[in-house]
Amino acid sequence: MNERDPAVLIADLRADIRYHDHRYYVLADPELPDADYDDLRRRLLALEEAHPDLVTADSPSRRIGAPPSETFAPVTHRERMFSLDNAESPAEVTEWLARAERQLDRPAGSLVCELKIDGVAVSLTYERGFLTRAATRGDGATGENITANVRTIASVPLRLLGEPPAYMEVRGEVYLPLDEFDRLNARQAEADDRLYANARNAAAGSVRQKDPAVTASRNLAVWIYQVGYLEGGPALATHFETMEWLRGLGLRVHPGTATVTDVAAVTGYVERVRAERNDLPYQTDGVVIKVNGLAEQAELGSTARAPRWAIAYKFPAEERVTRLRGIEINIGRTGAATPFAVLEPVFVGGANVERATLHNEDEIHRKDVRVGDQVVVRRAGDVIPEVVGPVPSRRTGEEKKWSMPSDCPFCEAPIVRPDGEKVARCTRGLTCPSRLREWLFHFAGRGGMDIEGLGYKTVELLLSNGLIKGPADIFFLEPDDLLGFEGWGEVSVTNLMNGIDAARNRPIARLLVGLGIRHVGGTVARLLAREFGSIEALQQADEETLAAIEGIGPTIAESVAEWFAGEDNQDLVSRLAEGMVRFSDPDWGKGPEKTLQGVRLVLTGALESMSRDIARVAVEDRGGRLVSSVSKKTTALVAGASTGSKLAKAESLGVPVIDEATFLRLIERGPSVLDRGPAP
Ligand code: NAD
Repeated sequence: MNERDPAVLIADLRADIRYHDHRYYVLADPELPDADYDDLRRRLLALEEAHPDLVTADSPSRRIGAPPSETFAPVTHRERMFSLDNAESPAEVTEWLARAERQLDRPAGSLVCELKIDGVAVSLTYERGFLTRAATRGDGATGENITANVRTIASVPLRLLGEPPAYMEVRGEVYLPLDEFDRLNARQAEADDRLYANARNAAAGSVRQKDPAVTASRNLAVWIYQVGYLEGGPALATHFETMEWLRGLGLRVHPGTATVTDVAAVTGYVERVRAERNDLPYQTDGVVIKVNGLAEQAELGSTARAPRWAIAYKFPAEERVTRLRGIEINIGRTGAATPFAVLEPVFVGGANVERATLHNEDEIHRKDVRVGDQVVVRRAGDVIPEVVGPVPSRRTGEEKKWSMPSDCPFCEAPIVRPDGEKVARCTRGLTCPSRLREWLFHFAGRGGMDIEGLGYKTVELLLSNGLIKGPADIFFLEPDDLLGFEGWGEVSVTNLMNGIDAARNRPIARLLVGLGIRHVGGTVARLLAREFGSIEALQQADEETLAAIEGIGPTIAESVAEWFAGEDNQDLVSRLAEGMVRFSDPDWGKGPEKTLQGVRLVLTGALESMSRDIARVAVEDRGGRLVSSVSKKTTALVAGASTGSKLAKAESLGVPVIDEATFLRLIERGPSVLDRGPAP
């Protein structure tokens, strides 16, 4: 037998899949992203199809999940729990539907679209309305009894409302909301415990705890999506109707569940969910499409693994495995040396990825990422791709540990990491070419002077041709300097010149951000601008004066004073002035009326008309305060879109909750728009 022998390949794949099944289902600690695991399964299925004689009953290709562990008592499901078949394109949904209709020999009728929640499947048994048992899916036939743990989940009713049936098993997905996931990982990190790679694994780990108090502390939640088995209920004709009925019984059914009539509408639904999924407070990995009619569902039945009346439309993978070719560093505008991964290109999260962040040296060692490793790369939404961790079972022994280089690759100055600090820095200062480039990019960027037309590429062009050496030089550029470079004609040069001209008149807060003074971000810059109104006045302020300003602590005060005392920085300021950059805010001093004196507001959720920072300035300019948590002293809670736990707290303390429109009136007219004045 050689390596290419299908029997050997099949045996290897099965062993590999069993290993990953165990890690995923039993340990809740998978090494591989789902998409790479699915590839293994697909390869096994293809080989088994080509060699039917090699198919065995125990092949993981025919099985669901993993056998239940011995930690929990076994539970036999009255009706099997299934997995789902997958589709990756509208064409595959059409194919699935056509197959179903061929089997039915008639149209399948309406369809239901639901979010595919990425958590753990559970079966809940209600007897005469009382929750008597909760079980995992296990291998589909037998699951694990996790009743004590599931009882701690607030959205699982212990007792149903209305007229519950005599006996019912419902299926749902237990999940960990993303903010709880972040909180959990922060706690785990603090305790030096294992971090969960994603919310699904954390949910799977949380639901199978030996101590229900631990499960309770995780704040899991549930969405119910199916009746598994029913004795004595109303006559129900469709899945949608069933969901409405379950909702009426007090079970948590997702409000996004919708009926549609054709595949085009399914595609529309999928696209909507795909666009919104990264804003949802929980993880979803696709859309489940179900034949709505229960008679049709019964007629279609199931294969050994999955119902024929449903299919999961999976979103493109946001995690994939690829090889880590090398680790390089970049020097940021503060001099921080940030390692990044150079990868064998991989298509993930809808784009080709060749580089990914590795955060810092400690992270690399904590994750034990080595050069040459197969690594998991994650790219979700617009977030910068990152290396999640290595796949240790795929190591060959050739991988090499990495450490921070001792010299800067851009300027050769030593890289130093002071004791106790996380970040290593290039010691050259602003003449390090990498640092300068990043600073200029920041200076011209959105948060800073917002110079239209001056992006990364242009900064590089200007630097590499010696046209600028620092931010002030931007304001001395002449059209002739640029005309003639490839891609730079009259139009683009004029646009850039206009962009630079517009930047001369930005509020000084933007200039302050652009200067890149340590600890001076948008909020601090606005505070300083409001207090002083001009760069000259700020320059004159000593450390004590600065530290006395509310919102400016001693660290910021020191950093600002130190910056303005620096000779190079003083030169920069004079040269910016020579370049006709405006140094004062024309409307300074004409603050609005102090309508909110003594008013304390808390803001939760996002406002449509302004950012949180602007809201803060608006409130503070009028003498009020925006604080972070609700207490009895809070005058009102301003509730924007998608509000969280603050709402419940405000309600419990009797603090008025106002919407955005009322907030805008409050800013204008003061607390008389509420029914009470400021708290004592
Ligand atoms: P699945 O997750 O693809 O689909 C079935 C499950 O979807 C159901 O059991 C249910 O829990 C869930 N679901 C969520 N919302 C639903 C809804 N509205 N209606 C119906 N069901 C809904 O299949 P699976 O059998 O649970 O697991 C296979 C998955 O696990 C694959 O994605 C696979 O990649 C992954 N897996 C990964 C590894 C790994 O190493 N990464 C190992 C094993 C399995």
